[in-house]
Amino acid sequence: MEQESFPSHVVVFPFPVQSHVNVMLNLAEIFSLSGFQVTFLIPDHIRKGPRFDQISSRFTRYPGFIFKTISDGLSVNHPRTGDRVKELFDSINATTRPLFRIILKSRSLICNGRAPLTCIVADGIMSFAIDIAKDFDLPTILFRPFSATCFWTLFCVPKLIQAGELPLKGVIFVTILFCIYGLSSSNYAWDSDMEKLVENVPGMEGVLRLRDLPSFCRVEDVSNPQLQHVVSETHRATNAYGLILNTFEDLEESALAHIRANIPKLYVIGPLHGYLRPLQGSKSLSEEDRKCIEWLDDQPLRSVVFVSFGNMTVLNIHQLMEFWHGLLNSGKPFLWVISGNLTTGKCHFPADGSVKKGKVVDWAPQEEILSHPATGGFLTHCGWNSTLESVCEGVPMICWPFYADQQVNSRLVEEVWRVGVDMKDICDRRMVEKMVRELMEVRREEFVKSAQEMARLARKSVSEGGASSVSLDSLVRDIKVMSHGKST
Ligand code: UDP
Repeated sequence: MEQESFPSHVVVFPFPVQSHVNVMLNLAEIFSLSGFQVTFLIPDHIRKGPRFDQISSRFTRYPGFIFKTISDGLSVNHPRTGDRVKELFDSINATTRPLFRIILKSRSLICNGRAPLTCIVADGIMSFAIDIAKDFDLPTILFRPFSATCFWTLFCVPKLIQAGELPLKGVIFVTILFCIYGLSSSNYAWDSDMEKLVENVPGMEGVLRLRDLPSFCRVEDVSNPQLQHVVSETHRATNAYGLILNTFEDLEESALAHIRANIPKLYVIGPLHGYLRPLQGSKSLSEEDRKCIEWLDDQPLRSVVFVSFGNMTVLNIHQLMEFWHGLLNSGKPFLWVISGNLTTGKCHFPADGSVKKGKVVDWAPQEEILSHPATGGFLTHCGWNSTLESVCEGVPMICWPFYADQQVNSRLVEEVWRVGVDMKDICDRRMVEKMVRELMEVRREEFVKSAQEMARLARKSVSEGGASSVSLDSLVRDIKVMSHGKST
């Protein structure tokens, strides 16, 4: 006798920071469009946030979609910035991990006529989901909202340690100087070591320097708990049913080939926001200042430098002022997002006439700005979402990476895709001005040409028959196969 068949029911479980939640909402929406029931585990600080009603109204059109709240154990007001990510890791381990088990055990996700659970799609930095889900006979697919190249680099860290390429030398000394005095690290002897090419990340020979390794590698002792955590989480992906990456083949072919050799069920389905364009209103979890669009409308074509460091970067006041003066001295109009988290200091921008060229907002509709005809360049921290959004719109970048995968991404921008310049580890006004001129004047044509080609490839990948689109189809098919024969 044939078993009754239920729709697939996927639990989507993001890491509890804004950018990860946002990109997994996109994934959840794609699942909903594929006819799946989706339970989205939303962090309670975002559920209590100012924009939650708007976000949830985006999903009312999908009757099979529901939110279920889960806590990360930190207070609502905790900044959850990159410099305090250890607190987040610890708190997730102490609070979210047991809560996740309780939620699965309670069977509350399958009451009110909802289908039995098919699988868990969890953020790859929370691989504990694999073991807990296994106890309930559920497969887990991990989603890592990083670049594939960073994932592969972290995967190779044990090899780097074995070969003596890690630990880096002199890191602590320079980091302390950098933090206390806000100094550029470029003048120190340590720097010459940092220029050395990395030899033990296959496929990245001749590209990555020690300086370009993920920020977690900037420790003097390789037993550093944070480094150990991200590396072991990366390896744990081999224990999952499969791995989803938000990138596309033409962008990161080499790293993807190496990952695939270790993780055969690899779904390369990005850029995710590329599938959803016609459906979108604003998706932001923060209140956006839409007046900046009117300001942009008044600027000449391709003249404006958009400046945003995402939601997890922290600048000291010295760095903030160096960016400010560098931008002013470049003479180009700029639109800068300075969110409440960006600096712990107090900004005192000079109120002279020259400031007319710049506009500062708390939070902006970034995707809309990148696609605006007045936007000519993007000064970015190279968070993976920002990088992908810029690639998709064909906007050249100036990169100032802060942490995690950003050091790797910025190297790809400059050295592999050739769509911008990388000013990592240097933060002085002369350099900022020089980089802006290089991007907007001196090498403009070269950058725009390669950026437009990358944008074309990005669009192709998510269009019908494109590599990402085909991979997404196989992900949807595999999930449907999992749900065959499930019973309550
Ligand atoms: N973002 C936005 N408005 C802003 C600044 C950023 O909507 O004013 C969005 C941006 O479009 C991107 C996300 O915030 O999707 C930032 O993610 P990313 O991975 O680049 O950086 P993170 O915040 O994780 O450091």
